[in-house]
Amino acid sequence: VEQYLQNISEKRHLNAFLEVFEAEALQKAEEVDAKIKAGTAGKLAGMVIGLKDVLAYEGHALQASSQILNGFKSLYTGTAVQRLLQEDAILIGRQNCDEFAMGASNENSSFGPVLNDADNTRVPGGSSGGSAVAVQAHLCLASIGSDTGGSVRQPGAFCGVIGMKPTYSRISRYGLIAYASSFDQIGVLTHSVEDAALLLEVMAGPDEFDATVSQRPVPAYSQNLTYDRPARIGYIKDSIESPGLQPEVKDAVMGVLDRLQEEGHTVEAVDFPYLDYMVPTYYILTTAEASSNLGRYDGVKYGYRSENVTDLTSLYKKTRSEGFGPEVQRRIILGTFVLSADYYDAYYTKAQQVRRLIKDKTDELLKQYDFLILPTAPTTAFKLGENTKDPLAMYLADIFTVQASLAGVPAISLPIGEDAAGLPIGVQLMTKAFGEEQLFAFSKQLM
Ligand code: GLN
Repeated sequence: VEQYLQNISEKRHLNAFLEVFEAEALQKAEEVDAKIKAGTAGKLAGMVIGLKDVLAYEGHALQASSQILNGFKSLYTGTAVQRLLQEDAILIGRQNCDEFAMGASNENSSFGPVLNDADNTRVPGGSSGGSAVAVQAHLCLASIGSDTGGSVRQPGAFCGVIGMKPTYSRISRYGLIAYASSFDQIGVLTHSVEDAALLLEVMAGPDEFDATVSQRPVPAYSQNLTYDRPARIGYIKDSIESPGLQPEVKDAVMGVLDRLQEEGHTVEAVDFPYLDYMVPTYYILTTAEASSNLGRYDGVKYGYRSENVTDLTSLYKKTRSEGFGPEVQRRIILGTFVLSADYYDAYYTKAQQVRRLIKDKTDELLKQYDFLILPTAPTTAFKLGENTKDPLAMYLADIFTVQASLAGVPAISLPIGEDAAGLPIGVQLMTKAFGEEQLFAFSKQLM
């Protein structure tokens, strides 16, 4: 803990943490140390973990990097975090992210951007940018983030660490600030497959506080990390041939596919006809869900309330105009539009239908193949400010990650190399729903 605290203070300029639980972490370390000596320590004893600022932890500030939750403290601890604590994890702090997890560069935080530790002029990815950089720069051993459309996988790729999003419903969302509830999943950022497997094993499983959580028992992922049979691997041809793909990313992913083939796995190109529909479908549905979820921040119940109000309507309007940043406002407006009576069928209903097509096709491919492999992101980490003026350019950074989110299947991003500038490259593996065990085991062989 002392070492991590020192690293955090030496790397303050990265802006990865919004708050460090210094005294608390040191005290917990003493307690865990005593338990280790007594032989009663939990599975995560000694693991020093950071939390993205979307995870409820009783008595601690929680604000999704937004001003609208300024001053808010959580009244309870969410299920995933509670399970970490039960297994003696040491929580070291609250991490910067895009406001309400909306973004792909961490530039939408009301606390300023996070800097990539590989090159401080570049973004860490997002929305779990602080969580990825904290692992990259050894400010903690592992981070817990959230992934709605790529928010642990893409920053994992940009920062050269592992980013894993489980099957939708595998981990309870109780105590996770909602962005788009039919997509949101808690995910992990780690250096090793073993740590990712262990953390998922602890956090996953049935929970009476989330009606959507899966009742399936949780396998001991961390105890079953051998994969010793030939795998059938598909890669989406259009993803590899897409014009926006940075050549070095393409080479790195092709390099992985070649290696797998040499090792005796079957590798085949597959057609996926819906690549162009992925980003629009994702943004129509997530903004619709977000506009509804974020209705609760009205200046009455939580956090910030505007001072200069004259009546109830102006309290709502001023609080929301002052409290939400520009990207969040853009999405609330877009989501409200696609849900409005005149446009509902043209946009929202249509997007639901396309989501079904994407899900069915993805599930079908995942019956034919054990894994689908594709880049995590089309490029390596881009420059701070490079995409901020053009929201569409920013949304396109999600092209390869939203498929697993639309289909609800698990996916992992693994660091597989660097470009000429020394920036990390990630490769992404998807597998069928609840196939986490084989996903971890195969990832282990790849690393
Ligand atoms: N970049 C995507 C978005 O802005 C993904 C965010 C996420 O997964 N939370 O919606």
